Amino acid sequence: MSLIVQKYGGSSVADSDSIKRVAKRIISTKKAGNDVAVVVSAMGDTTDDLIDQAMDIDSNPPAREMDMLMTAGERISMSLLAMAIHAQGDRAYSFTGSQAGFVTDARYGAAHIRSVKPQRVARALSKGNVGIVAGFQGVSTEGDATTLGRGGSDTSAVALAVALGADVCEIYTDVDGVFTADPRIVPTARRIPTLSYDEMMEMAAAGTKVLALRCVEYARRFSMPLHVRSSFSHRPGTLILPQDVNPSRIPNV
Ligand code: ASP
Ligand code: MG
Repeated sequence: MSLIVQKYGGSSVADSDSIKRVAKRIISTKKAGNDVAVVVSAMGDTTDDLIDQAMDIDSNPPAREMDMLMTAGERISMSLLAMAIHAQGDRAYSFTGSQAGFVTDARYGAAHIRSVKPQRVARALSKGNVGIVAGFQGVSTEGDATTLGRGGSDTSAVALAVALGADVCEIYTDVDGVFTADPRIVPTARRIPTLSYDEMMEMAAAGTKVLALRCVEYARRFSMPLHVRSSFSHRPGTLILPQDVNPSRIPNV
């Protein structure tokens, strides 16, 4: 049995229908014989909307309160996703970053992960449930809610995958993987089937928006295989692997 961490970005959980579609995908991954832990981003533009709301009230809001506010977005998507899985006849438990054991420093808005001890998620999985974790957030050693910086859910997913000892970390987005150019703009762009961590980091540093740089660095440090793919199709995506790992050994491809 494989352990798969799946991360769904904001565009994959933008509305109720998308959340139901993602729930179906999670359940079918589980039915295929895998344990599945999930990391979610906030729905659609929720994080931007929360920031706008804050700015309407205080153009220079306290950083601690900003992080408290922004962690709300992922709480909405994680609990709705757990409900969608329940409504489709399976069981899931959602966990905040704090409940999932993500301890960070206190740099609000750009916190660094100090440790991840996801015992509650592991326990949920061992009982046959799906474990869902709010991306982009943790708790400081002083006990305050923190966020990892915009786009930080990718990093949450890799950190969770490493801490749980997952076989692969799947990053679901709205394109079929990493392309030679943005396929939403350049129709002749080609999908790149496999990349090394270094190649992916070069692309991230050059502005390719598919993955956050820190997430790729984290995956490279711990040799965690990444699979970037679309939640809107079942086509193969892009595998980002250590040199010595054969792509055929990655589950759920
Ligand atoms: N919701 C957060 C953001 O929009 C984190 C993420 O999506 O990864 O930046
Ligand atoms: Mg987002």
